Amino acid sequence: MSKEILRREVVIIGSGPAGLTAAIYTARANLHPLLVDAPVNSEKQTTPGGQLMITTDVENYPGFSEGIQGPELMEEFRKQAERFGTEFLETWITKIDLRERPFTLETEDKAIKAETLIIASGASAKWLGIPGEAKVPEGLGGHGVSACATCDGPLPAFRNKHLVVIGGGDTAMEEATFLTRYAARVTVIHRRNTLRASKIMQDKAFKNPKIDFLWDTAVQEILGTMEDGVTGVRIKNLKTSESSVFACHGVFVAIGHKPNTELFKGQLDMDEMGYLKTNGHSMATNIPGVFACGDVQDHYYRQAITAAGTGCMAALDAERFLDSLPVTMPAGDEITIEGEHITPDHEKIIMPDGEVVSNKPEGVIAE
Ligand code: NDP
Repeated sequence: MSKEILRREVVIIGSGPAGLTAAIYTARANLHPLLVDAPVNSEKQTTPGGQLMITTDVENYPGFSEGIQGPELMEEFRKQAERFGTEFLETWITKIDLRERPFTLETEDKAIKAETLIIASGASAKWLGIPGEAKVPEGLGGHGVSACATCDGPLPAFRNKHLVVIGGGDTAMEEATFLTRYAARVTVIHRRNTLRASKIMQDKAFKNPKIDFLWDTAVQEILGTMEDGVTGVRIKNLKTSESSVFACHGVFVAIGHKPNTELFKGQLDMDEMGYLKTNGHSMATNIPGVFACGDVQDHYYRQAITAAGTGCMAALDAERFLDSLPVTMPAGDEITIEGEHITPDHEKIIMPDGEVVSNKPEGVIAE
């Protein structure tokens, strides 16, 4: 059976703050975006709406003076994108071909042809997979267990409490340091006796009087109840194999993130951790017409508001590109949908047939 072919000017992958903001902007620009997102799958960690769907209170998203629940916030984003005509398709993308425009996205029963593609497929926090870690009601996730200190650390449930951070990298040091603003004490539990974190981050954590360390230790289970929240963790000393219970009132898992970029391997430029490369001045990737925004291209800020901001930027870039205007590429040169290439110094235009012409406005006399 042949596949149904859909043709769209803008296709967006991902329905977190970045993807939905890109949808709001491109829909308002009459570009009729198609937003494709993956169905819920706990094993693959996919949730339409993204990481905010597994958060409770969001207190730092501007515009909500009393705070808002993560899922509620994403529902508002989605309704706003729908209001301007965004089309939604919940399905798995099996293959993507970015070799020529229109780009082709294959699903089980469709081939989607996209003139521009905005990738907002996000990143997933890595989890340990231990009992007690899953989201409520299966575990205590969102109820004393978190993978984001900036998001959840200031919540009343964690204030003046003894908290545990699991991990030994920069994220763990950053989270532990941040949490000391609110917590009574923070214990970092790490599986080895040396940290992976950079020296400066280690030094800051070692000097912080509120942080202590449990070395060579694995966390095997998070303990607690819905009534009491987290009450402790079951730990195992990996040198002695001794198990014990360590009392605490909150757990932050900080063992890294994984960008959702599997589908783009070999086609788009990525850094050594697999995050898509954009240049910071625009959201363009190395392929003209493909833009990336949100956590899939940012392992540093990782906030809903920064994701939404870059979603807006990617949408404006796609609009410019479809309007035949130049878009800045990662190397600083500019490119148009017709294939004109403007050199990074803005001096020359290399036409699609190879002819080189001046980019200076007529009437400007060269010095
Ligand atoms: P990393 O991969 O650097 O560190 C992950 C840590 O978690 C390691 O200590 C690792 O232990 C531990 N870990 C991994 N899996 C498990 C497991 N199953 N059980 C127990 N422990 C586990 O990730 P980060 O998120 O910390 O950093 C990612 C990148 O982002 C780095 O390049 C970092 O420099 C950068 N970053 C920079 C920041 C900054 O400069 N402000 C802030 C945050 C991140 P082990 O060491 O034994 O492998």
